[in-house]
Amino acid sequence: MIKTISYLGLGTMGSGMASNLLNAGYNLTVWNRSAEKCEPFARKGARVAETPADAVRDVELIMYSLSNDQAVEEVVFGAKGILTAIKAGQIAIDMSTVLPATSLREQEAYAKHGVDFLDAPVFGSKNESVKAKLWIMAAGNKAIFEKVKSVLAKLGQTVHYFGKNGNAVAMKLVGNLIVALELEALGEGLVLAQKAGLDLSTVMEVVKVADFRSPLLVSNGQNILKRDFSPSFALKLMLKDAGLIEKFGQSLQSPIAALRVVQKNLESAVALGFGEENASALIRALEKEAGVEVKTRRVYIRHGRLR
Ligand code: NAP
Repeated sequence: MIKTISYLGLGTMGSGMASNLLNAGYNLTVWNRSAEKCEPFARKGARVAETPADAVRDVELIMYSLSNDQAVEEVVFGAKGILTAIKAGQIAIDMSTVLPATSLREQEAYAKHGVDFLDAPVFGSKNESVKAKLWIMAAGNKAIFEKVKSVLAKLGQTVHYFGKNGNAVAMKLVGNLIVALELEALGEGLVLAQKAGLDLSTVMEVVKVADFRSPLLVSNGQNILKRDFSPSFALKLMLKDAGLIEKFGQSLQSPIAALRVVQKNLESAVALGFGEENASALIRALEKEAGVEVKTRRVYIRHGRLR
């Protein structure tokens, strides 16, 4: 049974997962590029590593959730990266959303050190990460998957095995293609409803119950009406994923026409300065084009009078 784990990358997703590993009683080492994010974990008894190479010391399992392929390049393959210190028998799990080709490159590099590697990206966002309710996919050696399954089960509500390395991130990109199109559909739908003069609270009541309902449409729709774009999945990360989906789709000659439309709107929203906001801020690009702002008509009651 695995007892010692290192977690690298304490961003929105990684911090929730690392907390849950500590809460589950694992002996935890943490590393993050911006060291201050390690402090809350140090106060709870985690060892703070100086570098990715240092993080690998004395642990059975190394897990990481990093922004993108470039971050994986630096943390895994870099001068003080994981590969400079990892030893045969250790296990590495990449939970980031990256290209399947990157996972395969990681797997090959780890194999040269006698290290088993799984790609294990996740669905769910900040809330699911904090509450250990993620939907996790994993791919790689089945025996290693069986060995780490109990660890992954401490982080998520489901864990699906996808076979050979690269398949779990491929599934992640398939899912995020659907997420991107849902956000575009929600944005276009709400802008159209606003232009048509519909009552948007009632629009959302229907979105909640109709046969096209989804938790993603409901939570993002409600937050858009409140103009709450605080990030649980940043717009800039959705744009990054759109780029990955584009490359992946092209490599397999699979049609991605609708994705290209979303990608253009994500780029516009980032250019407008909303990259750090939640991915639902995609609607801001549509609002600009339409010349409207989507929000509910609020009625305030103050001192017994309607305003
Ligand atoms: P985030 O909050 O932006 O955190 C990114 C992490 O990567 C931080 O720890 C950051 O370090 C680190 N990082 C970035 N560039 C680096 C570099 N060059 N070298 C070393 N470390 C670097 O992102 P997140 O939302 O946690 O997402 C992490 C991964 O999960 C991404 O691949 C994302 O696509 C995926 N994902 C996110 C969500 C979501 O809802 N947020 C859902 C599913 C999957 P610093 O703290 O120093 O910046």
